[in-house]
Amino acid sequence: MARTHRIERYRDIGIIAHIDAGKTTVTERILFYTGITYKVGNIDEGTTVTDWMAQERERGITITAAAVTCFWTPLETEKTKEFEERRSSLASAKASANECRINIIDTPGHIDFTAEVQRSLRVLDGAVVVFDGVAGVEPQSETVWRQADKFSVPRICFINKMDKIGASFEKSLESIWQKLSPNAVAVQIPIGAEDKFEGVIDLLTMKALRFEGEFGERVRIEEIPTDLLEKAKEWRAKLVKKIAGENADLLEKYLSADRQDLAKKEISLEELRKALREATTEYKLIPVFCGAALRNKGVQALLDGIIYYLPNPTDLPPVKGVDPKTGEQIERKPLDTEPFSALAFKIATDPYVGTLTYFRVYSGSLTKGSYLLNSTTGKKERIGRILRMHANQREEVEEIFAGDIAATIGLKSTSTGHTLCDERSPVILERITFPEPVISIRVEPKTKVDQEKMATALKRLAEEDPTFRIKGDPETGETIISGMGELHLEIITDRMRREFKVEATTGRPQVAYKETIKSRAEAEGKYIRQSGGRGQYGHVWLRVAAKKRGEKFEFIDEIRGGTIPKEFIPAVEKGVIEAMQKGIIAGYPMVDLQVVLYDGSFHEVDSSEMAFKIAASIAFQEAAKHAQPVLLEPIMRLEVITPADFFGDAIADLSARRGKIEETKDRLRLKVIGAKIPLAEMFGYATALRSLTEGRGTFTMEFDHYGEVPENVAKEIIEGRR
Ligand code: GDP
Repeated sequence: MARTHRIERYRDIGIIAHIDAGKTTVTERILFYTGITYKVGNIDEGTTVTDWMAQERERGITITAAAVTCFWTPLETEKTKEFEERRSSLASAKASANECRINIIDTPGHIDFTAEVQRSLRVLDGAVVVFDGVAGVEPQSETVWRQADKFSVPRICFINKMDKIGASFEKSLESIWQKLSPNAVAVQIPIGAEDKFEGVIDLLTMKALRFEGEFGERVRIEEIPTDLLEKAKEWRAKLVKKIAGENADLLEKYLSADRQDLAKKEISLEELRKALREATTEYKLIPVFCGAALRNKGVQALLDGIIYYLPNPTDLPPVKGVDPKTGEQIERKPLDTEPFSALAFKIATDPYVGTLTYFRVYSGSLTKGSYLLNSTTGKKERIGRILRMHANQREEVEEIFAGDIAATIGLKSTSTGHTLCDERSPVILERITFPEPVISIRVEPKTKVDQEKMATALKRLAEEDPTFRIKGDPETGETIISGMGELHLEIITDRMRREFKVEATTGRPQVAYKETIKSRAEAEGKYIRQSGGRGQYGHVWLRVAAKKRGEKFEFIDEIRGGTIPKEFIPAVEKGVIEAMQKGIIAGYPMVDLQVVLYDGSFHEVDSSEMAFKIAASIAFQEAAKHAQPVLLEPIMRLEVITPADFFGDAIADLSARRGKIEETKDRLRLKVIGAKIPLAEMFGYATALRSLTEGRGTFTMEFDHYGEVPENVAKEIIEGRR
């Protein structure tokens, strides 16, 4: 099967937003207008197609990054009849000359799911950022925006909910300028607002767009109403100036044109679009659209915007990776003729088909039934079936190409972030890095049967989600799971109950403390049993030393001249690592330290790996005790936004929670407080802030670093009072 759409007609995008801004509604309308769903679902009833997991529905949030494919031809080239036909069935989605394939990679907005956001951002080429036209930029939009900055994702903005009381395009745009980027530029202005919101004016074509029919499916393009013409001209002038400012050729034209009559400037629509597209792709400008998804207004124009301004895979630099054999940097161009390379970005457990692996193809093509190399693990994988996801249905395809997003079933050794490639030309694409889990809870199965089911369930869930960890406590026989936040773990235990039918009780969420040392010390460890028969003989001298936060664990072997034979050295390291799992202060894992093995002795007959392992554990524990051991706790970066009236109370409350205020700013009529604060003090903060601020304060919190626990608090933890 040949390629149906040239790669230049691909858009691999994500839609990102603060919770409640309308991301689900926008996505769902996009799927409707692009002809895939018949009925306009309503998020309030929990029927939208991307939120296919039950608890997402209940919570009204999107957790799982489902990738959805749809097709769109820009309005100006759209013929109504063709549109109707296309809408009538997925199978008849024939590619007209201008039709584009849009792959939407769903990205969750909740901060507890940053890993989901990150892996999505890693594989998409551009993003639509949805804002609430009343609230403007909200804290979470800022967090996600910063993450998108990290990956330099080109983006366009959509100011949604223009129909709501209090909605303001100008204020929202202002808040984007203030908080996110001065390079945002309006390409539309609204016609009316609140209940008088009728449609939008396109500042490039200088036409008014109204959306008619039961679902706004008929777009009427007409002249700009006379009362808005002046305003539209002013906004257009700003837009043209901004675009010209980013493009040397246009700037010259712009400056030489008639200064009085901006409309007469001889820059054509095509030139403007092309220049704006380039500036957007290079993340120099950010086009801003508006509408009301729920009222079926503005979404088709936004789809046009995706096509006109967001990059296709060939607009971006080739993907980078390393040759696993030589370690050399290599690139893969987005061409079908290049060797195949793809990145697995999502593993999902589907109740019907089993494990689904979503991947993005960066180069080459792949036919079903062929074998690929997982270059991250070195294992071969057979690609039995290739699926393209359409939110509520799956299409089986024979072949996929560069730029495609697809899923396959039944991969055995592939996890999130792994590279799949042609085994003749192996490459490992740049990895996705994930934050460490900071919070944990105990889960206890109700019965023996549940115990087995729980083990399977948790294993599956951990495969899907790299920020979720499982640990058994060998002493108590309990299972401890850890993740990124309270909601994260709540959702995991929820899925365990629902999807895997495990009956289990959960404990209170606990902070994932760690331990480390602050100085250096030496100690001897001996494990010698020599009474009759074959004995045991292990003997080591270890030196432990502190390392900086985040530098992890390092083991150095300084044994010279065979004081301890080579074959026992790995056992010594293993003994240390095992001892580190259970720290000496309160049993939390130890991190960020160096261990040097510098002396010891052995016995020709009695020495064994086991004996050296035990000796190493003894020596390590002894040395660590004398190296100023301390407890570490996760410190979060917190931002609180509150009306000025409650500023004092909010600050006092944060101080009582051991928070360190780092900055306070004014933002419009609000106060913004930036602080670093221990996670342990933040349980139930949402409720506390709400009552402190009469429900008007909001906050976001992100893991920042592990910091030392103050002595008095550490005492409480050690004594089990916390
Ligand atoms: P998400 O959390 O970003 O996915 O947001 P949703 O799409 O779930 O929308 C959140 C709420 O806003 C829902 O109650 C929607 O019905 C509502 N909503 C979405 N778009 C609009 C809009 O254009 N106008 C109005 N008035 N409400 C909207």
